[in-house]
Parts: sequence; C-alpha cells; structure tokens
Amino acid sequence: MQVWKLAATAALALGLAGGLAGCGESAPEGSAPPTEGVTDDLIAAAAPEEWLSYGRDYGEQRFSPLDQINAENVGELGLAWSYDFDTARGQEATPLMHDGVLYTSSAWSKVYAFDAVTGELKWSFDPEVPRETLVTACCDAVNRGVALYGDKVYVATLDGRLIALNQADGSMAWETDYVPDHNSYTSTGAPRVAGGKVFIGSGGAEYRARGFIAAFDWETGEELWRWHTVPGNPDDGFENDAMELAAATWAGSWWELGGGGTVWDSITYDPQTNLVLFGTGNAEPWNPAANGRESADAEGDDNLYTSSIVAVNADTGEYVWHFQQTPEDRWDYDSNAQITLADVEIDGTPRHVVMHAPKNGYFYLLDAATGEFISGNPWVDINWSLGLDPATGRPQINPDARYEVTGGVWVGLPGAGGAHSWHPQAWSPATGLMYLPANLAGFPFAADNDFEETELGFQTGIDGAATAMPPVPEVREAIMAGTTGALVAWNPLTGEEAWRVDYAGPWNGGALATAGNLVFQGTATEELRAYNATSGEQLWSFATQSGVIAAPMTYSVGGEQYVAIMVGWGGVWDVAPGILSAKSGTPRNISRLLVFKLGADGSLPAPPPLAERALDPPPFTGTEAQVTAGARTYARFCGTCHGDAVVAGALNPDLRHSMTINNFNAMKSIVIDGAFAHNGMVSFASDIDEEELENIRQYIIQRANQDRDLGE
Ligand code: CA
Repeated sequence: MQVWKLAATAALALGLAGGLAGCGESAPEGSAPPTEGVTDDLIAAAAPEEWLSYGRDYGEQRFSPLDQINAENVGELGLAWSYDFDTARGQEATPLMHDGVLYTSSAWSKVYAFDAVTGELKWSFDPEVPRETLVTACCDAVNRGVALYGDKVYVATLDGRLIALNQADGSMAWETDYVPDHNSYTSTGAPRVAGGKVFIGSGGAEYRARGFIAAFDWETGEELWRWHTVPGNPDDGFENDAMELAAATWAGSWWELGGGGTVWDSITYDPQTNLVLFGTGNAEPWNPAANGRESADAEGDDNLYTSSIVAVNADTGEYVWHFQQTPEDRWDYDSNAQITLADVEIDGTPRHVVMHAPKNGYFYLLDAATGEFISGNPWVDINWSLGLDPATGRPQINPDARYEVTGGVWVGLPGAGGAHSWHPQAWSPATGLMYLPANLAGFPFAADNDFEETELGFQTGIDGAATAMPPVPEVREAIMAGTTGALVAWNPLTGEEAWRVDYAGPWNGGALATAGNLVFQGTATEELRAYNATSGEQLWSFATQSGVIAAPMTYSVGGEQYVAIMVGWGGVWDVAPGILSAKSGTPRNISRLLVFKLGADGSLPAPPPLAERALDPPPFTGTEAQVTAGARTYARFCGTCHGDAVVAGALNPDLRHSMTINNFNAMKSIVIDGAFAHNGMVSFASDIDEEELENIRQYIIQRANQDRDLGE
C-alpha cells in the first residue's frame, strides 16, 4: 500500500476526517449578484406566472401553483403555437419564461427567445458546435436548457463552453472554454445560478473524464472555484482533504482513465443552507477489472465520490457532505437524476429533505443539510442489491452482480439506462406524490477481459459483442417483453406506489405537476398526455408526431396559462435494440417547440409517413472468423451510434441499409478517410485498420442477411 493511502486510511480510522478543508487557497470573490432582472430573490420567490430556472424553483420541484388549466377543463387544451427547429436530434430542454419571453435551447446547444404569447422568434444564437464533437458525446447532441440571471442567458455547449448571452438581443457577453480537453469532456446539462455564480459540470465518464463541478462569475465568466469528484494522480498531490480520503477507496492506477464521476445533469442550489448539491456519474471504466481500479477481492473499493450526491459550499466550493448511493459502481448507475428539495413532516417532525431517484432503482430521502440517510426504498425491480443498511443506507451488493469476478453475462436490473435517468421528476406538495418517469429494462453486462485503451470511443471495459441481441426470434421477443416504461406516482414518505401508467417502451419524457391536480408527460409513443394527479386517470392527449423525452413546463402571461414542451426523439435510447420500433413504430424526430392553452385549436402539418424499407444486402461471402472479430470491433466503436447488433434507431444511419456495405472502398472513404467528418462521422483511422474494417463490413452484411431472413 502506498504511503498516501496509508495516511488517508489512518486519518479515517482515527476520526480526524472532520472539518474537511477545501482547496488551501480561498476562492476569488467575484462580482456581486445581480440586483435587476432575474435575481436570487426572484428565483427564490418563484412567482406562479414565471418559470425562472431548470426545475422552476431552487428546490427543483417542477410544481406549478397555476390552476387555470385543471382536471376539469384540460380537455379543452389546444395548440396555441409551435416552432420548428433546424435539427433532427434529441430535444431535452425545459424552456424558461421570464417577463413574457420564452427561452429554450435545442440540440447542438442553440438558444432561442420567443414572445411567450405569440410565438414570434425574437432572436436565436448558434454556438456553432463542431459536428465531430458527436463522437465524444455518449448520448446524442442534446442540451437540457439554459439559465437566466440578471440580464443574461447562459448555455453550456456540447463542446464544453459556457456562454453568456444578453437577454435583450442574444448577443454574446462572454464565453469560456471550461473543460480540460475536447476528446473526453462534453456538456449537455443546464447551468444553475445563485449568489453571483453560474454552476456547471460536464459529461464524459464513458470516455476519459475526471468529473468536476465549477462556479463562474455571472458577469465576467471568471472561474471562481472547481471541485473534482474523484482524486487525480497522487504523485501530483491532492487538491484537498476530500480527494486524499477518496483516494483510499480506489485501487490500481485509476487516474489513467480519468475515474469518471462526472456532474452531467443534476445541480441544485439550496438557499436555506447555501449548499450546492449535485449528482455524480459512474466510475470509469464500468468494468472495474479493466484497469484495476478494484482490489483482487472486489470488496471495499467504493470509488468515492462516484455515483453519489455531494454537497459543497456555494461560495467556496468546499466539501460539506456526500452520500454514496452505489459504491463500487460497475453498472453505470449514475446518480445524476434531478435532486429535489422539499419540506415534509416525518414522524411528526418537520424535515428539509433531498428526494432522489438515481439510476440504481432506489428512492432516497436524505437530510438536505447533512446528507443523513432517512430512508431508501426500491421503487422498481432491482437485483444488484440485496437491501440497504437501515441506519446508513449503504447497499448490500449482490455478489452475482460483480460480473467481472463471476465471469459470463449478468443481466442487471435496472439496466445501464437506469430506472430513472435525467428525465425530470415532479413533486406535488398538493398530493404528496413524486411523479417519476421509469425505464424498466435490464442490461447484459459482460467484462471485456482483453480491454485495451483506445483513441476513440467508449472506455468502459464491457464486451458488447458477447451481449449483442442475437438474431433469434424467441430471444428478441423476450428482450422486448422485458423492456418497458412507466409513469410512477410514488409516495416518498410511505415508500409506496400510489398509481402507475404502463408504457410499451422506456425513455418517455419528464414530468410536470400543477395545482390544477394535473400531471403532464410526453411519451416515446409520440404523445403529450395529461393525467389526474391523484388517480392517474388520463384526461387529455395530443399527437406530437415525434417521440418526446423532454419535460413540459407551464407559465402565465396576460391572465392566460400556457403549457410548453420540446419534442424530438433522441438521446441514448435511440440506439437500443429495435425494441421501440417493433413495439410502437420507430419514434420519429420532428424537432419542435409546442405551446398549448385552453380553447386554442392550432394544428401541425401532416407528418411524413414512417419509413418502411426492405433489407436488400449483398450475399454474405466472409468467414465466421471475420464476423467474430468484426462483431467485437463494431460493438466497441460503432454500436454507440449505429445500434446494438446493427439495428439503428431514428437518428443515425442503419448500416444494414447502407450502400457502402456493397463496396469496401466506399466504406473505407468514410470510416478511415473521414469523408463524412463534417457530419460528425469522424475518421476512425486511429483505432480501425483496413483488415478490421473488412471484418466489420462482413459482420454487417451477415447481420443484414439474418434480419432479412427473419422478415424484419
Ligand atoms: Ca454514465
């Protein structure tokens, strides 16, 4: 054991860990918070008419006190106006509304400002994200929204820039390139603001990222503090005591692949405690044996502070508390789901709590000031954990779930997509229920025992070829039957489900709850629906012509209440096995902003028909050895975008249909020579040579022939 590890372990054992200091130097103070426009007080007051930050209020409850649209009259809701975006990628943003102007962001991190009543475009801003950024982004070119503060609008771009625009005209006030590099770090989350600062993290835990959250001066863009979520190389020295303590929970040379733990979505500022609470992502690589980040017995290497909620002081970025939900994560159980704050009564005592449902399938209540565990209940089927310690909330890990130890394929519940990912939950203080979009799907984990770090692509240490969906009808049907979704109304205090609505597939939209006793949610099956918040009865729906993954929001101008939602299918589930297409018709991507009000009767233009294309591949002339090798290389470098087992979703080309499989040189011009780099399909010459490409081509040809024979 290295000296630093001994020292940190000793500090823990002797109880010297109290009062963890942050960085030795004090953080720069920065500009005073704004006193005009969108101020801290205005966000905290959360006027019913407005929607000023990602989760509406600082507690991120996504509950609107507006009740003009309610369970009695929601049937009269109609389309007031819409706007078509110039992109066909996933739309994940929640629009904001201030002073009669609706602000939103689209895929590729573009920002738009509309007249909230008429839909007239006031301005738009394109940060011109290089399309080749797509190859370093795990989950599509999505953006979850902007922040408003003072007279500015903030967006974090896919390629890792934080940009401040002027609300009045969309002109740029400042921009800062805040990620360590552009090969492993991307950004998709909405910034949050408080105390004169803009908070943002990044994605990249499937690549080579070392997670962090940082605070920037709202007026100048100066970086005020940065807190890493995982320790770096001990030889470089630790930034603070929290990193030194965390290092004792890792083995091997974890820092070589970054360590992960990225802060890619949830950030919640708590004005009661002046803490910034954020969720961290998986440890990197997923398979802990792939670079030896675990000890030989696989026990006790928690890999702090991955798959955790962490709280730091908003002014200084100093560590205050953490609660790790998934120690020794090897299942991609990110804790990045939205963190909601609420004041509830537990056993007769008022408590200020965190409500959180991360990917791992438990619903947690924690004390918001201390991180103390209050309760945790599985709200979906899980098999990776055998239960939580009732005092500490620490999970007892199912030994079978350590797939790198047991060998073979282990089907985890929840799957890597998570029981609940970034899709926002909504908490109604009126019903006492949390409304949660659920993904009900397993994921087959298998360790890649020959893992080697590569220039491009995921560095997860997972053998995707061993677990690719086989061309066997019975197996495919079983996978489809086991892959569904739901909207679950959950009582966090009793740990019981009040009601649920089942969906044919996963990856449905986020939720909105209102004082009109309504819950709104968009679906993968191309609808926006309204439910009775108490009973779950469906009261209204609108055909969105596109799969919906974003969350709706609501606002009021001139005494009229509106409901707005971004529609446009995409994100990581687009490349899941052709489950959705088989069950509900491939969700289309027609990227739009839709805005509704009572009595409106607007309509959308007729959508193009769903594409029906017969498979017409060349005959398979390769060898089984080529297919075996090609399947492995495909899973490592191609499957992330083009789909498991070469069955693509709606966004990226389905290579079974590609003309290039007829001609090696045509495929080479794209994959090796980079002919489509301008489109985001960069050259893979660093990791794929001509022989490997021919293996991939033969694998695709065989897959296309198999699926044609299956009549797909
Ligand atoms: Ca992840």
